[in-house]
Amino acid sequence: MRNIVAGNWKSNKLMKEGAELMDAINKGLPRLQKTEVIVAPPAPFLAHYASKLDHTSQIQLSAQQCSANPSGAHTGEFTAEMLRSCGINTVIIGHSERRDRFGENFDVVREKVEQAVAANLHVLLCCGEPLEVRETHGHFELIAKQLKDALLEISIEQMQRITIAYEPVWAIGTGVTATADQAQEMHHFIRKQLTNWYSPEVAGSTRILYGGSCKPSNAAEIFGQPDVNGGLIGGAALDAESFLSLITASEAS
Ligand code: PEP
Repeated sequence: MRNIVAGNWKSNKLMKEGAELMDAINKGLPRLQKTEVIVAPPAPFLAHYASKLDHTSQIQLSAQQCSANPSGAHTGEFTAEMLRSCGINTVIIGHSERRDRFGENFDVVREKVEQAVAANLHVLLCCGEPLEVRETHGHFELIAKQLKDALLEISIEQMQRITIAYEPVWAIGTGVTATADQAQEMHHFIRKQLTNWYSPEVAGSTRILYGGSCKPSNAAEIFGQPDVNGGLIGGAALDAESFLSLITASEAS
C-alpha cells in the first residue's frame, strides 16, 4: 500500500505563483517508490493546472471540497462531476476549516462523500477533535461518530475510494503537532473501527493520513508509525523545499 503525501494550499497563491510551485515540486521529485503525491490548489486554478500535467507527471490534483448537491440551481457551487470532467480525480471532504467556518456538519460531509464517490473521485475524508474534546478524553468517541456519520452510505466496495485524514483540530495551523504516539494511537483506533464496520481487509487497505502542523522536523517520526500512511499537509505544502522533504520522509518510512 503506497503512502500519500497531500498538500492543501487552502486560499493561498495566485495562479502564476501556484504554477511555479507545482513546477518546482515536479522538478524536485525523485522517482517515487512508495508515495503518491497529491496537490490541492484553489479551485479556480484546477482545470488549468490539470491541462499542464502530462501522463508522466507524478503529481495528482485534488479539489479542497465539492458541493453536497448534484448539478442544479446552487449558485457558486461546483459539483463532484464537474471536477471529474476537468481531469481532477481527488477531493478533500470535511476539512475542519469547512466544518468550523462554513457550517459543514457531518450530515453535509456525508452528502459530499456520496456525491464524490458517485462521481468516481478519490476522497480524502477528514476527521479530528477540538482541543476541549481531547482534554476531556472524548476524542475516540467523537472520531468514531464523525467517521460513522460520514461513511453511513458507503459500501465495502466504495471504501476503495476513501482515504481518511486524522487531523486533530488543535494541531492544524497551530505549530503544535500530535506526538507520534498520539497519532499512532488514534490511527490504530480508526483501523479497528473499520474492521468492525467493514472487514479486516478494508481496515488493512484504507490509507489513514495524519494532518496537523506536519513539517520536515517531525515527519519522519510520524510517518514511521505502523498505522500512519502519510500526511495531509497545510503550511508546509506552500514551499517546494519543505513539501519535497516531507515526500522524502514518506519514501524513507
Ligand atoms: C490542514 O489544514 O489540513 C493542515 C494539516 O494544516 P497545517 O499542516 O498547516 O497544520
